[in-house]
Amino acid sequence: MLQCTAVTHVPYAEALLALATMEGGPEHPPDAVEPEEFVLCELGDHDESAEHAGHLWTADTPDDQDLWLLWSGTGAHRVHRLGMLRLCPAVLRELATRTVTTCAFFDHHPGPHSFSVTDPLGDLIAAHVHSEVRRLISEGDAPDAPGEPDAPGTPDAPGTFNGPGAPGRPDTPDVPDTDAP
Ligand SMILES: [Zn+2]
Ligand SMILES: [Zn+2]
Repeated sequence: MLQCTAVTHVPYAEALLALATMEGGPEHPPDAVEPEEFVLCELGDHDESAEHAGHLWTADTPDDQDLWLLWSGTGAHRVHRLGMLRLCPAVLRELATRTVTTCAFFDHHPGPHSFSVTDPLGDLIAAHVHSEVRRLISEGDAPDAPGEPDAPGTPDAPGTFNGPGAPGRPDTPDVPDTDAP
């Protein structure tokens, strides 16, 4: 399932107050939230009957409580609240790889657990990296690997490769920064 695409402005004064008064909050709350900060809804795509939820702070307490911004509606119709919510207890155990992934959402969150939600931005960046790798391989001196068909839509551009280093082509196109965990 894809991640919800809702995004909203963090209410700065309220968030500062919550961070300053919560148990296990940051030592210096102004370092934890910016005046013009936005959060993405991290839940799986959902309808309007469920609130959006963006994670603000992981409390340093023994009983795993996080500060979340919950909201519904947009613009002037937005209704929001800040809540200290316990972690969702769900874990995904993969026996084959012996990995255990915990759900990053809060207890009783709507929709699927975080390990079943795909971040579209993360996928976009991953796809971009893969196409860059293919480009570098096709531009390098490696001959076509047998059995490795060229990706459709990315034809080699003859004449643009002028030897090692291929001058004139930026190596690092802009990739959006992401703080996604
Ligand atoms: Zn949402
Ligand atoms: Zn969960």
